[in-house]
Amino acid sequence: MNVHDSERISGLLEQAGYVRAVPADDTPDIVVFNTCAVRENADNRLYGNLGRLRPVKDKHPGMQIAVGGCLAQKDRGEIVRKAPWVDVVFGTHNIGALPVLLERARHNAAAEVEILESLDVFPSTLPTRRESTYAGWVSISVGCNNTCTFCIVPALRGKEKDRRPGDILSEVRALVDEGVLEVTLLGQNVNSYGVEFGDRYAFGKLLRACGDIDGLERVRFTSPHPKDFTDDVIAAMAETPNVCHSLHMPLQSGSDNVLRAMRRSYRSDRYLGIIEKVRAAMPDAAITTDIIVGFPGETEADFQRTLDVVREARFSSAFTFQYSKRPGTPAATMDDQLPKQVVQERYERLVACVEEITWAENKRLVGETVEVLVAVGEGRKDERTGRMSGRARDGRLVHFATQAPGGESMADQIRPGDIVHTTITYAAPHHLNADGAPVSHRRTRAGDAAEAGRSPRTPGVLLGLPTIGAPPVAPAPTAGCATH
Ligand code: SF4
Repeated sequence: MNVHDSERISGLLEQAGYVRAVPADDTPDIVVFNTCAVRENADNRLYGNLGRLRPVKDKHPGMQIAVGGCLAQKDRGEIVRKAPWVDVVFGTHNIGALPVLLERARHNAAAEVEILESLDVFPSTLPTRRESTYAGWVSISVGCNNTCTFCIVPALRGKEKDRRPGDILSEVRALVDEGVLEVTLLGQNVNSYGVEFGDRYAFGKLLRACGDIDGLERVRFTSPHPKDFTDDVIAAMAETPNVCHSLHMPLQSGSDNVLRAMRRSYRSDRYLGIIEKVRAAMPDAAITTDIIVGFPGETEADFQRTLDVVREARFSSAFTFQYSKRPGTPAATMDDQLPKQVVQERYERLVACVEEITWAENKRLVGETVEVLVAVGEGRKDERTGRMSGRARDGRLVHFATQAPGGESMADQIRPGDIVHTTITYAAPHHLNADGAPVSHRRTRAGDAAEAGRSPRTPGVLLGLPTIGAPPVAPAPTAGCATH
């Protein structure tokens, strides 16, 4: 969500006439911090970074510093009290106001702090500068109506706001027209999509509608919530050819007691029941999850239940977290916070258990031929190993060799965004290798865009907000998302 917000911030500033600073430029005119309060130590990191910028600003007084995102929504005016050299503080609900706030701060020579309590415009109607030529995020909803006791999101992002299906599909089409092959539908809880306009089957319908978009090869979504998961979503995934058979469904804990304390209103048998149905409909589905270990009051028996569910669910990957307090959440003040060493020890056992399973699941793919969408920045060792990297349809990371059958390298022909079929020769817990010659290579429009250095842009409109700088570019006829 934050990464996509940063793409919007870039798009907005570009539309207002700014250009991106080159990395070597140590005195840009504007620095924007898009903060995330979900991550640990977000405030320490923000104030540390602001402190490091202070001497730069002292030397270049015209430089402006803006702070947005969840931490800004939470700390508000506190930020300019602690760091008076900050020019603008904006929240999660008014990203679109950033160019105006920068202009006003410059004009008035005073800090502007503007935090709204609810959304004034759906963020995806803002212009967006996309970082990837081949894959794009598309928001379907923002905010969350749940009240998980460890989570700061509802306090900072507000109640769920759903975007109209027509607007979502227009944005997806606009991205595909720019060459994008893969779209990830984004919401805090995609399964409750439709709650605002009274259609609990809206998400499954949306997936099926994505299936009708020519040129869209992969559809993913994140994140579903087990509480609201309906069978029609599984059917839509199985029956819509461009929807990938990968499901990231947060478990958080395998213990019903802990789930209750977390105020997550499903139980482990419901969670496992969804997985069973997904596997029955899509035997090749890769299921991934998030797990928190060491929640306040978690007993050894509770923890064992988490390990049981991990073994039964056979995840292909899991993001594992040690519980740590987030100020402002109910769990932060619960009794029975666990000692750090207990959490650490359980965490290590959980990681070992998860790795054993993900490795075994990955090994099942050795000898299989998979379709890889070639990516940028997924393989840190690629230069040394001579491989390239990308994601299989099920979301697994694949590093593949680029020698053609005759031994000559294809590395200069394969571009990010192209599609390669290759056969898996080795499995590790977190990735797969394919060290034979690629079975096939297909050049795509996304690859052409990457080669030409073009990144997709979706224009958007600033509804109800004054604009500054260059007048907004009229939306392209294909970009229907920009017309409401
Ligand atoms: S479902 Fe729970 S964890 Fe997810 S955003 Fe909503 S409150 Fe947070």
